[in-house]
Amino acid sequence: TYVVTDNCRGCRYTECVTVCPVECFHVDDAMTYIDPENCIDCGGCAPACPVGAIEPDYRLAADKKFWIDVNRKRAAETPVLSARLAPLPGADARKLALGR
Ligand code: SF4
Repeated sequence: TYVVTDNCRGCRYTECVTVCPVECFHVDDAMTYIDPENCIDCGGCAPACPVGAIEPDYRLAADKKFWIDVNRKRAAETPVLSARLAPLPGADARKLALGR
């Protein structure tokens, strides 16, 4: 499954939702999460993310593996995101800070 990680927090550009064919994405006030039960591993969302927040689970660094559990838990607790939202305030500044 693919996993949303910390780069999304505070940005939440939500380009991912426009490419996902199976409505995997859930959302809260800070970021998006992928429902691992729905993800078909198409890989479309990872390159679509302007801040590189999305990676396949097997490629996550050891210190980012906990995001697998965060995505599973938060996807179960939050609503499906079916259309793009405006990025969060400060998203562009954060993107620059991340060197993107
Ligand atoms: Fe959706 Fe594909 Fe990304 Fe999985 S890998 S969340 S199916 S766009």
